[in-house]
Amino acid sequence: MEAPSVETAARWIRDGGVAALTGAGISVDSGIPDFRSAGGLWERYEPSQYATIEAFRQDPDRVWRMLREMGDLIDAARPNAGHLALAQLEARGHLDAVITQNVDDLHQAAGAKRVIEFHGNARDIRCARCGERPAAPPPPDGVCAPRCACGGVLRPMVVFFGEPIPPGAFVEASEVAQKCRTMLVVGTSATVAPASLLPMLAKTAGARLIEINLEETSLSRIADLALVGRSATEVLPAILRALDA
Ligand SMILES: [Zn+2]
Repeated sequence: MEAPSVETAARWIRDGGVAALTGAGISVDSGIPDFRSAGGLWERYEPSQYATIEAFRQDPDRVWRMLREMGDLIDAARPNAGHLALAQLEARGHLDAVITQNVDDLHQAAGAKRVIEFHGNARDIRCARCGERPAAPPPPDGVCAPRCACGGVLRPMVVFFGEPIPPGAFVEASEVAQKCRTMLVVGTSATVAPASLLPMLAKTAGARLIEINLEETSLSRIADLALVGRSATEVLPAILRALDA
């Protein structure tokens, strides 16, 4: 393994063919706690009761209590220096695509153009029955799930546990992973399949993996460069500065 430095990361990025895979960790500094962490949503909302497609079908009112809280967190969030640095990398031609497991829209808000939403997007609300998008957003409070004019329940187009990855995103992400020469894995332990397959897919196809995580993960052992111990809001702008140097 190379000495873990932002200079090495910048050198590899300069070679081109770079894709990023991001997860919850990149949005923590925007005020969205990792759902799995202490203080995260799953501490108060047991995923099997609030985040599976079965739970949504059985009791959409209950699941919407979690969805509203998630929506509030996302509404209040703004892109941070990590999101902005990735958008800058793309704007300067150093980054081909961002594959994100996040549903918070913050890469787009930062100005990123090619964002592959592996787990969907919370702002995209549609009817679970007829697929219509409501003209007006669902009311912000209340105890019942918002409904479509057809009587069906509205849902955000996020991937609930038990649902497949949106096929278009899955195919595009797999292609990007197989073609890239360097994959930046940011703010994710990449342990949940099938997102976890993407770094392996990239590595198997000959790409170098750069990991940027606050803590060591199972990825650290296979990463070619593990920049671990500092947040993405610190490391990504540092890489950008190293590219300029
Ligand atoms: Zn409908």
